[in-house]
Amino acid sequence: MSIPSERLKAQAVAVGFDACGVAPASAELQELSFFATWLERGYAAGMTPWLARTADKRLDPHLVLPTAQSVIVTATNYNTDRPFSIDCRDGVRAQIARYAWGEDYHRVLASRHEALIAWMREQTTESFDALSYVDTGPVQERVFALHAGIGWIGKNCCLISDEVGSFVFLGVILTSLPLPFDTPAFDLCGTCTRCLEACPTQALVSPGVLDANRCISYWTIEHRGDFPPDVASRIGSHVYGCDICQEVCPWNAHAPTSSDPAWQPRAAWDFRSITDLRGRSDEELREDLNASAMKRAKLEGIRRNLAAAAQNAERRGAAP
Ligand code: SF4
Ligand code: SF4
Repeated sequence: MSIPSERLKAQAVAVGFDACGVAPASAELQELSFFATWLERGYAAGMTPWLARTADKRLDPHLVLPTAQSVIVTATNYNTDRPFSIDCRDGVRAQIARYAWGEDYHRVLASRHEALIAWMREQTTESFDALSYVDTGPVQERVFALHAGIGWIGKNCCLISDEVGSFVFLGVILTSLPLPFDTPAFDLCGTCTRCLEACPTQALVSPGVLDANRCISYWTIEHRGDFPPDVASRIGSHVYGCDICQEVCPWNAHAPTSSDPAWQPRAAWDFRSITDLRGRSDEELREDLNASAMKRAKLEGIRRNLAAAAQNAERRGAAP
């Protein structure tokens, strides 16, 4: 017996998600195929080798879970009441992507997925497979989120919900259970092009197409080693990630904020100056990175970013 959609969604909210929907576990979803073109064009920059290794799986969920029939998508609002980076460009503040301010979302959301799966097992006598990923699996979460009715993929490449905005974490549970599917969301970007115009490095090369070679988020989070000569000056005061193409989006102008303690800014990264963070010892920074999504960039990456941001601040003559 299948689990009714309303009950699944109510339980998802009960365990801490803001939205939940179900999409078919199908390789036929039209938006899945662009990933291969995007890789071929070299837009994945230094991520190409590891993304290419799992490209087949990213194009077909059955290569991830052969018995998959449904993809449950969860969305969690991480927006808080702090101002956007575009509203406080003082030049000395270390800009950190909003999603990394609180606890490491992988850990928090994986345990909420487990709670949802445990509840599902209580609801049916059918045995079923369930595989959960929070941004860690070879699955194109945004495409399934679109088909699960959570929101549309904006011209800034983010998943946008007309109720919550785009500051949301996405997670997926692939399952062999046949569940009722939701209706795909409509694209509500309309004629707006704010994100394309606001990107400081022209990384959005056309609507919905990101060239990571130009993106501050890619360089400050994913790139390993020193910056190429022309990159350091382009990251501005961004010490980890960049939110500009989301901050200018009208769908985030009045987006609700979350009161979940997990996403509230940790003191270690909240409104800190570049100089202040540079002055922290390796031991202190390591402690600050503990249980934070920012540990993806590793201590060396954060130090590299801080050094470039400090140079940029000096060049602009930004006073502490
Ligand atoms: S994250 Fe920043 S650099 Fe990357 S596309 Fe968005 S605005 Fe541009
Ligand atoms: S800024 Fe405009 S074009 Fe860009 S994602 Fe938001 S609504 Fe779409």
